[in-house]
Amino acid sequence: MSQNIRMLEREPKIRKHDFEQISFGYSKEEMLIEARRCLQCKKPMCCVGCPVEVDIPKFIKFLSDDKPQEAIKILRENNSLPAVCGRVCPQETQCEKFCILYKQNASICIGNLERYAADSTSKIHNSFFNISSIKKNGLKIAVVGSGPAGLTCGGDLLRMGYDVTIYESLHDSGGVLRYGIPEFRLPKKILDIEINILKKSGMKINLNTFIGRTKTIRDLFNEGYKSIFIAVGAGLPIFPNIPGENLNHVYSASEFLVRINLMHAYDFPIYDTPVYKGKNVVVIGGGNTAMDSARTSIRLGAKTVKLIYRRTEDEMPSRKEEKKHAKEEGVEFIVLTSPVRFIGDVKRFVKAVECVKMESNGHSNFGVKNSLKKIDGSNHIIETDMVILALGLHPNPVLSSLTNNLNIDTRGYLIVDNNYMTSIPGIFAGGDIVGGSTVIEAIGMGKKAAKAIVEYIKKTNRYMQKTKF
Ligand code: FAD
Ligand code: SF4
Repeated sequence: MSQNIRMLEREPKIRKHDFEQISFGYSKEEMLIEARRCLQCKKPMCCVGCPVEVDIPKFIKFLSDDKPQEAIKILRENNSLPAVCGRVCPQETQCEKFCILYKQNASICIGNLERYAADSTSKIHNSFFNISSIKKNGLKIAVVGSGPAGLTCGGDLLRMGYDVTIYESLHDSGGVLRYGIPEFRLPKKILDIEINILKKSGMKINLNTFIGRTKTIRDLFNEGYKSIFIAVGAGLPIFPNIPGENLNHVYSASEFLVRINLMHAYDFPIYDTPVYKGKNVVVIGGGNTAMDSARTSIRLGAKTVKLIYRRTEDEMPSRKEEKKHAKEEGVEFIVLTSPVRFIGDVKRFVKAVECVKMESNGHSNFGVKNSLKKIDGSNHIIETDMVILALGLHPNPVLSSLTNNLNIDTRGYLIVDNNYMTSIPGIFAGGDIVGGSTVIEAIGMGKKAAKAIVEYIKKTNRYMQKTKF
């Protein structure tokens, strides 16, 4: 079996100086070769690995016949954000891992093909579906949060005839896709195309509206919404709880990336958003957020970027591709190392991190990480003028604390049943706020919740008709 075709990438020494996308995307010739490698399996295992059940062989078949406009229809049936997923989904652990060709190290590059289908049709594909063919039912649904979960749930409900309004607390839509993931991985103009397709299909997005404060959940019901989908993500940074974390120039990754991505801090003087540009940056963490922070720091001109992670490189949760790109761009990985305190100068600006080496007990069970212990006497100092903490995110408690009877678990995530309904009838939730951690999981939950909302409305309407209030 011939090897798969990888997308061409810009040279690390060039791309590390700008925020342009790093891979070029397939040419038509490359796309055709890759699509024609697909065996069109009778029992396509790739579909088993797709959390939103895209008919993968079918969209690839259309591509192999050079019909991207047909391929994109198949993709959009199950995924309202294909250009996004084609870029940031961890396909290597999902569909591509299940591909029959995986064992020969020659899986079909499904993500690259998805990106081609979306990009090559973005100009002609103005609306998510044929709006005129949709019978509107006049029933209003509110969605809180415009990340991938909210956009997907809203998009699916539109397709089923509902009148959907998304409420977003920030001044722009897209959630983490806009303010977390940097431009060089997911250009804002690609996200804008996807969101505009949804808007042209009838989705309303009200920005600068923080539900819980600007309006409450009760207000939304009073305004006539039949059901509410909460997709507010998990935006509260986790801190290590060690001395010195309040020093100047110790940032959470969320704050750092929001300043860069949402407020265009890198684009001076066009945008005048203040951000400190570290010379010798230390990033703590091993997930996608850590890689994004490290690679963004390189692009802002840092001389050195050290990424400190307490486990081994294999155990880092970030995508394999992101680790490779980070290393190519000069990020130094320091593994099995953990910070114990941040040290400041007389003006309380961070000047060093004291770390210890970690030891793994070597017992690794499937899905369970090795337990770790500090190595006595291994304390050492790493000098720095900027620290970025990328240790994960927790749910923001504001909405749940301001909404009576909206139950959360001990870590603050909203509790939902199998149909994504919360403890309040008619209020559903999905995405990171119920424990998801990837874009495709958020999309999958948004889709399932949309179906459950429709069922719920049908049931309550029947009940109200019978009861004759
Ligand atoms: P979010 O995307 O967080 O969107 C929630 C939205 O709700 C936000 O816009 C927020 O402003 C809004 N909101 C919050 N509270 C309120 C309120 N009270 N009223 C109104 N609006 C509100 N996943 C991948 O699959 N691949 C990756 O490569 C990847 N990289 C990542 C990089 C970074 C830096 C980060 C932080 C995450 C990354 N993830 C990645 C994870 C992924 O982005 C999330 O799992 C996904 O965005 C969750 O979607 P969501 O819709 O649940 O929430
Ligand atoms: Fe094609 Fe691989 Fe899916 Fe088979 S498993 S249909 S080869 S993508």
